[in-house]
Amino acid sequence: MLSLVDVRKEYPGGVVALDGVSLDVSPGELVAIVGPSGSGKSTMLHLAGTLDRPTSGRVRVAGHDVAGLPDRRLAGLRARTIGFVFQQFHLATGVAALDNVADGLLYLGIPLRQRRERAQAALERVGLGHRLTHRPHELSGGERQRVAIARAVVGAPPLLLADEPTGNLDTAAGAGVLLLLRDLHLAGTTVLVITHDRDLAAGLPRQVVMRDGRIVEGQTGGHDA
Ligand code: ADP
Repeated sequence: MLSLVDVRKEYPGGVVALDGVSLDVSPGELVAIVGPSGSGKSTMLHLAGTLDRPTSGRVRVAGHDVAGLPDRRLAGLRARTIGFVFQQFHLATGVAALDNVADGLLYLGIPLRQRRERAQAALERVGLGHRLTHRPHELSGGERQRVAIARAVVGAPPLLLADEPTGNLDTAAGAGVLLLLRDLHLAGTTVLVITHDRDLAAGLPRQVVMRDGRIVEGQTGGHDA
């Protein structure tokens, strides 16, 4: 599903965020990415999500070599293949949960009515069928993150990338979000989740540990039992 080969990412100013990272993630895996702040976790997730390109090395997503794709094809691959969840939720303010989720289908060219139907089903799937018309400020943090997850998966992408999705939540809400990621994984979605919470990561089938732009643990052998 995802393959990074000897990936290096250097930001302008000479910061080496990734220093030769190789990683294979098989379809259906649930992988925790852990490591101290600044170790390159978000950079790796951005490259895996084709939001950025590596300075050198190879990134393959769902069988496509990212380097070989022009921006338009890359945007199409991203829309069909990858869902994103962020620490800050990134929901549109003042917009009902239903439409926040329906907007996740905009780039797939699906008519509004169908977008809304699928959004409702996605919200029901994350346990928010009773919150369709609530706007983000009327929802708790945990509920907002569940809306964000519904939006990320409404198009049924095979790959879900989550950057500290529990970072702004209390323990109980964080556990709920994690349970949801597990459910998605059990339903066949490949999930990569960045977390600074070691306990949370320890409960997941595979952990990739990063330090100073390198993977120091969990690079290989990540096959789900
Ligand atoms: P983590 O997610 O583990 O906290 P990051 O991938 O965010 O790590 O950052 C890795 C390194 O790259 C850090 O030193 C960070 O300051 C640097 N960095 C991240 N994004 C940028 C950017 N857009 N421009 C310059 N440096 C960056």
